[in-house]
Amino acid sequence: MDTFDRKKDQLGIHPATAQHRLKKIVVFDLVKRLGENICYRCKKEIISEDDLSLEHKIAWLDNSPDLFWDLENIAWSHLSCNIRAARRYKTNSSRGKTRGKSKHLGVSYNACQKRKKRWLAQQRFGNKKRKIGYFHTEEEAANAIKLAGGYEPK
Ligand SMILES: [Zn+2]
Repeated sequence: MDTFDRKKDQLGIHPATAQHRLKKIVVFDLVKRLGENICYRCKKEIISEDDLSLEHKIAWLDNSPDLFWDLENIAWSHLSCNIRAARRYKTNSSRGKTRGKSKHLGVSYNACQKRKKRWLAQQRFGNKKRKIGYFHTEEEAANAIKLAGGYEPK
């Protein structure tokens, strides 16, 4: 029996799964010790590591990958609260309440930024994205994309 099989045999689960679970337990223990186990969404205590979820305060997708890595943009929440918020984000996005996609390809809305122009216009060529700029209105942003040569659909 090799090491992998011995580990799997003795742990009773895949070693990678065990490693992942252990990391989660350690992180939760640290978070709890720091008193940071408070949900960013509902402000209630997070009691178990199974309900701990890492979330981004400002959605990074279709916005900026820098936000994914920005530690200032990280918060803890209940897994259930995070999932609920993600669902809400999807249903609200077309109305563009705080941030979200527009009906125009390449246009997205972001109210979380301290700027007056909140409609971001982006172009895509193949797998590359390029920021054109921020605009006051959705239509202006859509127009800028048109003028720049359009948004290449996938
Ligand atoms: Zn919560």
